[in-house]
Amino acid sequence: MYKMKSFIDSHLHFLGMGYVAYLIELKHYHSIDEIIQAVKSMNHQSMIIGRGWNQEHFKEKRMLNKQDLNQISSELPVVMIRTCGHVLAVNDKMLELAKIDEHFSYQGTGSIDYQTGIISEDAINLIYESYPSPSKADLKKYLIKANEICLKNGITKVASDDFQIFPIPFEEIINVINECYEEDLIQVQITEQANLRTYDMLKTFIDKGYVNKNYGSYKMGPLKLLSDGSLGGRTARLKHPYNDDSTNRGILTYSFDELFKMVHLADQHGMDSVIHAIGDEAIDVAIQAIIDSLKITQRTNHNHAIIHAQLATHEQIKLMKEWNIGAIIQPVFLNSDIEIVASRIGQRKYESYMFHTMHQVGLNVGFSTDTPIESVNPLENIYAAVSRKSQSRPELNAFVLKEAFTIDEAIQCYINNNLKYVYDNAHDDEILISSDIHVNHVSELLKIDILETKIKGKTVYKKT
Ligand SMILES: [Zn+2]
Repeated sequence: MYKMKSFIDSHLHFLGMGYVAYLIELKHYHSIDEIIQAVKSMNHQSMIIGRGWNQEHFKEKRMLNKQDLNQISSELPVVMIRTCGHVLAVNDKMLELAKIDEHFSYQGTGSIDYQTGIISEDAINLIYESYPSPSKADLKKYLIKANEICLKNGITKVASDDFQIFPIPFEEIINVINECYEEDLIQVQITEQANLRTYDMLKTFIDKGYVNKNYGSYKMGPLKLLSDGSLGGRTARLKHPYNDDSTNRGILTYSFDELFKMVHLADQHGMDSVIHAIGDEAIDVAIQAIIDSLKITQRTNHNHAIIHAQLATHEQIKLMKEWNIGAIIQPVFLNSDIEIVASRIGQRKYESYMFHTMHQVGLNVGFSTDTPIESVNPLENIYAAVSRKSQSRPELNAFVLKEAFTIDEAIQCYINNNLKYVYDNAHDDEILISSDIHVNHVSELLKIDILETKIKGKTVYKKT
């Protein structure tokens, strides 16, 4: 048995991970009847959502439809997402909430079949937008689940983005999280990466006195902004077009002026910004907004950072160092990105994901998982950082191996460096693991078990 400090995740979606954990997994079912019986017997509160069905695997050899789902519930909305994510079956209650009746005519891409309750492509957004808001009991259930998953994975502190996952005012999220601590339902320490999409939302947050508010285990952290999309979706904003789409450079969520206005308003009030930026142009805009603000506010002791920074160039990394802008990165993204990077950016891939370079030049590099996008397991993340390989596609070569971390460096990024991103300066939480993390072969990392997790000396998880 080996003892070490527990892990800190510097960017994930705590509430989101709990929510996703409650989606009903349908991929293992081989008949529609089984699904109806199994889901009916589960406990449900305000809505029933399943995902992963595939009619090819059903003995009935047909799609799920509204008549099936009406048998599960006529009072609660039921949505069952096909494995591809582009087709849903919904029940009558869900159609009613989405205001879809037999006369409904849909003009966009995809289709709505009122008779079968089968909906495809863009039309599925009409359903997503009509989901009922989760109740307070639902939110607590998700938070408890996320807490359980973190502790099981040896994570005791997180910086988390929770304000935008549901259409709920941020103050309600703050209240319910605080209630969970008061009732000792959760123990993982959360620093909120306050996702406030608009200038007005940020202004309200500031005017109401929430900046850097500290409730104890729950703290208000930086402003979280999204400046571009993703590489997979070709929405990350690049300086030059995508290799596999020569007319496309991705999107910017905010113009430079819009982004600067928000960063600067926060900065003036002593609130940091952590900005999601993947493409090199998005990173340029984000860094410049921060720098221009710092030139005015003259703050020296700040925790501004870029989240992801996958396509940061050498020049940008140098600028980040100069202005003390950190990088919150996700080595584990290689799991899915390793397959698409070359087709998206061609030769530019050799100058991407330069995570070790960032560490070497002295940026405060923090490791995170962005879960539920990827697994929250720190050992899988460290595996990716050290091996630069994809766990799901082990036959593929390591991705630009010169950017690999040593295990000790990875631990430094996961624990010491992340303290800054959870606005903490001491860390005494511990875990017991099944073997030394300094493994001989990197693949052994994936076999290590977390046996026990302690917060401030108190055992909060024990493997049974
Ligand atoms: Zn995220």
